Amino acid sequence: MYDVIIIGAGISGATIARELSRYDLKTIILDKEYDVATEATMANSAIIHSGHDPLPGTLKAKFNILGNRMYKQMSTELDIPFMECGGMVLATNKEEHILIEELYARGIENGLQSHELQMLNREDILLLEPNLSDHVISGLNLPTTAVTFPWEAAIANIENAMDNGVELALENKVVKIEKNDYFTVTTNKDVYKGRIVINATGIFGSDVANLISKATFETKARRGEYYVLDKDVRVANRVLYPAPSEKGKGVIITPQYHGNTLLGPTSEFVDFEDVSKTTASGLEYIKTNSQKLVKNIPFHKIVRSFAGGRATSSNGDFIIEESDVKGFINVCGIESPGLTAAPAIAVYVVGEIVGNILKLIKKEDFSPLRKPVVRTFELSNDELNELFKEDKRYSKMICRCEKVTEGEIVDSINRNCGARSIVGVKNRSRAGSGRCQGGFCQSEVINILARELNIDKQQVVYSKTGSEILIGKTKGEK
Ligand SMILES: Cc1cc2nc3c(=O)[nH]c(=O)nc-3n(C[C@H](O)[C@H](O)[C@H](O)COP(=O)(O)OP(=O)(O)OC[C@H]3O[C@@H](n4cnc5c(N)ncnc54)[C@H](O)[C@@H]3O)c2cc1C
Repeated sequence: MYDVIIIGAGISGATIARELSRYDLKTIILDKEYDVATEATMANSAIIHSGHDPLPGTLKAKFNILGNRMYKQMSTELDIPFMECGGMVLATNKEEHILIEELYARGIENGLQSHELQMLNREDILLLEPNLSDHVISGLNLPTTAVTFPWEAAIANIENAMDNGVELALENKVVKIEKNDYFTVTTNKDVYKGRIVINATGIFGSDVANLISKATFETKARRGEYYVLDKDVRVANRVLYPAPSEKGKGVIITPQYHGNTLLGPTSEFVDFEDVSKTTASGLEYIKTNSQKLVKNIPFHKIVRSFAGGRATSSNGDFIIEESDVKGFINVCGIESPGLTAAPAIAVYVVGEIVGNILKLIKKEDFSPLRKPVVRTFELSNDELNELFKEDKRYSKMICRCEKVTEGEIVDSINRNCGARSIVGVKNRSRAGSGRCQGGFCQSEVINILARELNIDKQQVVYSKTGSEILIGKTKGEK
């Protein structure tokens, strides 16, 4: 019998699992996919928003501000990439200038301090962003905006939760939930019993809530498409937002921690099965709109495009509450700024909701720290030389685009919540994320996965069961 069953291993389930692991509780995370963080958490802008945008009084506003203030400490404890680059909302005409003045007032009402947001004129902005387009007339400067690496944020939280005793069961799609004295959660593979169930299933939030009682809300999928620019391109120094519209925050220019730049997202309601599909019209919309903010975007340097689905709730806000079935907690409708808000949502869910149902006793041996990750691209030559002496695998370059060594790939496989597929290695170590998108390193990644997982190369999967890449041996291969 589990104390808590979390359904969903995105950033919401991940941060809640880590928060629960501080206490003497038996917890398991269930997810339907082959790996963690495969839905909204893997396809977003990676921005830790300042809190200037959500409507005052909403849960989005409350948890955005709190989450932003928690990210740095969480990132330090878990060794998650965190880039304090700042952000700015730009106005290109008088109407937009009025809108960003309203955003300034909204930010203050949400709790931002005056040093956390400032109105700037074009001349001041040009000193910070020399590549600014000729259309921009003013901006709202947001120095507490930052950028994370979303997959690693989720993976690191789950790894740390597992280091502290939480269990993870992947490829377990929840199909039935019943309650008597306790919950019985049935998946396609197994049956789990628990005292509390937390529903953190993203775009499927209302479907899973409906398994136990009629949900008071509906979650719909709102797709966002992106372009990724190569890492030798720097069109902006900070996150550049357009003035918002009824469609949301608009097409943003976001420098990423590893050097690439994201252009996007779009915003469009779609069927669940279409959330990860990009479209010619969506990508064209990104091209047109991103050029309103900066000049000279080298579109020939695009390395890939992708799309993800926001879980938009019917009431327009996050839904974070115990349902009418005691012990069944919905953490649903977690669209933007959900990545930012996640650590604060976790503290609230565990402290204020779980804590009202179960007695929370702190574990004496809880460790908030995750074993640091070696990222060779961040090291000086002296540091690299020291590392090579300790472990030769860090001197063997596997992914030349992203500069990822064998040592880093082996480490990404052998941790708790480690990689089990080519995409899993890519999401953790970045091998295959660069200009050639794995064209050169994929065969070597297959060899390493097979060796470390102690399986045949033909059993190595691309992303999930059934996506094996090698179908047989060529003449002479052992
Ligand atoms: C285009 C886009 C841009 C965004 N940009 C930002 C941003 O810059 N900053 C920011 O703060 N936020 C941003 N967000 C929002 C952020 O990505 C989400 O709020 C966050 O990732 C939601 O995490 P989650 O864990 O709630 O959901 P998800 O990451 O979707 O996780 C849900 C999990 O539940 C699992 N699941 C579903 N059904 C079942 C079932 N029946 N059984 C078992 N498992 C199940 C899924 O497999 C999945 O792993 C953006 C979102 C999108 C889509």
